[in-house]
Amino acid sequence: MSMKTKVARDTAADLDAADPLRAFRREFVCPEPDTIYLDGNSLGRLPTATAGFLGQVVRDGWGAGLVRSWETWINWSRQLGDRLAAHTLGAQPGEVVISDSTSVNLYKLATAALDARPGRRTIVADLGDFPTNRYIMQGLAEQRRLRLVTLRSDPDHGLDLDVLRRALSGDVALVVLSLVSYRSGALLDMAAVNSAAERAGALVLWDLSHAAGVIPVRLGAAQGDLAVGSTYKYLNGGPGSPAFLYVRKDLQRQLRQPIWGWFGQRDQFGMGEVYDPVGDIDRFLVGTPPLLSLAAIQPALDVMERVPISRLREKSVQLGALAVRLAEEWLAPHGFRLASPRDPARRGSHIALAHPEASRISRGLRSENKVICDFRPPDRLRIGFAPLYTRFVDVWDGLDRLRALVESRGYEQLPVDMSRVT
Ligand SMILES: *Cc1c(COP(=O)(O)O)cnc(C)c1O
Repeated sequence: MSMKTKVARDTAADLDAADPLRAFRREFVCPEPDTIYLDGNSLGRLPTATAGFLGQVVRDGWGAGLVRSWETWINWSRQLGDRLAAHTLGAQPGEVVISDSTSVNLYKLATAALDARPGRRTIVADLGDFPTNRYIMQGLAEQRRLRLVTLRSDPDHGLDLDVLRRALSGDVALVVLSLVSYRSGALLDMAAVNSAAERAGALVLWDLSHAAGVIPVRLGAAQGDLAVGSTYKYLNGGPGSPAFLYVRKDLQRQLRQPIWGWFGQRDQFGMGEVYDPVGDIDRFLVGTPPLLSLAAIQPALDVMERVPISRLREKSVQLGALAVRLAEEWLAPHGFRLASPRDPARRGSHIALAHPEASRISRGLRSENKVICDFRPPDRLRIGFAPLYTRFVDVWDGLDRLRALVESRGYEQLPVDMSRVT
């Protein structure tokens, strides 16, 4: 504990007043002024324009247009993918498409990558990765009798690149990693991982769920092979909105995905007898997209495209720095420990605070204090900053209420058992 200066609430209010992005908060529905939302990394807020746009798609597109609306709808997966590619992923047109869930896309692209490296029998993954990523790789390894090497990343600081390098033998077909760790927020060096894997002849599949929309991702410049990611976190596409997938142009024709659906078929409405996938990114599509959820991504991107991701990153770093400073000043004396990299350059847009009572504290914050963040096992409070709408005073007030809750031990009345969703 080295902090001597107290950070006054005015300091946070001044940062808001000087924030060039402050007007963007109005583009989101914030119906409870007293509720502090620090969980945009789990489910982004509802953009103000979304309900109206969805109403229009329902009434005019579905209600009036009926099946004729598919003439335009059929292009949305690709059009929205191109927009994401250009603005948030640093990829080329025709390299990104929106389809299925992140989990399903992981399965599709991992399978395709394994088939493209016949003879190699090892998948390298991260023991600290998001559960669905680990389970899907476990399943693939078991189904195909491959070897799964799970690297021991540091729970607070993420994966050490030397640990990865040591695992990269000539038998490795595929490396699967998250750019930003869902728990600690630790940020990997994408270009360094890609070049190490490339030297070993392995493909890399990135999960960008906690990075897209808040970290300037440069898939092209960093020689990214494959990527997937969620659109309902910092991209604000709404609960369960379909995920994106990226395949670098020159790999597309070499890769065949395992689910041979009609949306990947050449001349789809020719309804031919035999599966013959198109030569481009559409070959990674499967079937009819959940159109209304897909539609909701459009107004969300309309807002995000008005600001470069590098600007969002700058504000995100400032929000994180304020939170870390307040946590050290106010919360460390109450047994909290920063469980994320301290260097902002090594972090995404959330931090984790470790505390033995983190589960009850998280629930107490929600139910009694109108502060929404979340709990991640074993003992982490996870606090996210969505620079489009999180204010500096939200960070100050949220951590102030957290401090008051732990000082009063107000969480001790809560039951120890957890709810189904944390
Ligand atoms: C949020 C998240 C997912 C979500 O997968 P779904 O299929 O949408 O449930 C997957 N991987 C990571 C790393 C995530 O952060």
